[in-house]
Amino acid sequence: MGFSDLGLSPDLLRAIEDAGYTTPTPIQEQAIPQVLMGRDVLGVAQTGTGKTAGFTLPMIEILGKGRAKARMPRSLILEPTRELAAQVAENFEKYGKYQKLNMALLIGGVSFADQEKKIDRGVDVLIATPGRLLDHFGRGKILLQDVKILVIDEADRMLDMGFIPDIERIVGVLPKIRRTLFFSATMAPEIRKLADKFLMNPKEISV
Ligand code: AMP
Repeated sequence: MGFSDLGLSPDLLRAIEDAGYTTPTPIQEQAIPQVLMGRDVLGVAQTGTGKTAGFTLPMIEILGKGRAKARMPRSLILEPTRELAAQVAENFEKYGKYQKLNMALLIGGVSFADQEKKIDRGVDVLIATPGRLLDHFGRGKILLQDVKILVIDEADRMLDMGFIPDIERIVGVLPKIRRTLFFSATMAPEIRKLADKFLMNPKEISV
């Protein structure tokens, strides 16, 4: 199976070709069509399996052209660390280069003012660590009722780092009608419980 069999549009296929990828990895082959169909996904996958493209590619496809309202992101990706958040942002830049999606990265160690300016302009894709997102949310600088796609990445690391209460707070203010993609390298009972709570009838993919 090739990338052109997965339901992605020509702009994305061109960006994938530019990246030098010829064949989708197993998680990409399984996750991309499911996400495009609107199904929630529970992915059990380690870093290195190509899972980032597995969620960024269909997200770019679904979001299409940029049209976010001020302070109301259309999608949200939660990452446990700044480094991972920055890597995901690079993926969006690489695969979304023929699209006009606006993206913002909300991580610690960067000034609030610069991040607020970006949010004010409207972002299609918001990539954040939970603490920094809650800081902005608590200041009333960001509204989450327009989020149609949520990604919780590296759930097992979120658990290890004590971020689950933050994530519960964030998910609690998101619209109930949304798509949710949830990834974890392991599926411990606590992670399974969280997945059950956040996902609706997910397709489970284990690679
Ligand atoms: P990830 O597991 O998402 O961190 O990706 C691991 C690495 O694999 C990254 O450096 C990607 O650029 C690369 N990668 C992702 N998908 C593919 C693919 N289909 N073919 C070749 N390399 C890929």
